[in-house]
Amino acid sequence: MTEKTGTHQRNTRAMRQSPRCGAKTREGGKCQAPAVSGKTRCRMHGGAKGSGAPKGNRNALKHGLYTREALEDRRILGELVRASRKTLREIE
Ligand SMILES: [Zn+2]
Repeated sequence: MTEKTGTHQRNTRAMRQSPRCGAKTREGGKCQAPAVSGKTRCRMHGGAKGSGAPKGNRNALKHGLYTREALEDRRILGELVRASRKTLREIE
């Protein structure tokens, strides 16, 4: 135990294992406050209920290259290419 925490044995395991907020602080580090469940940010950094854009928001859509559908399509295509290459190697 360090001097700051004294000699009391605190059980901090659950606290240390819970997801933490990764928002960048003005000091340059990470926020470290507990993240809101199901989110990657704490309640002060965009994890609060009702914060963020509504589902299906198209306000910032420019080209659709990174929409969920486009990403999924490219992922499936990559899998197909990998599987094809594997098959080609096997029949050589
Ligand atoms: Zn935070």
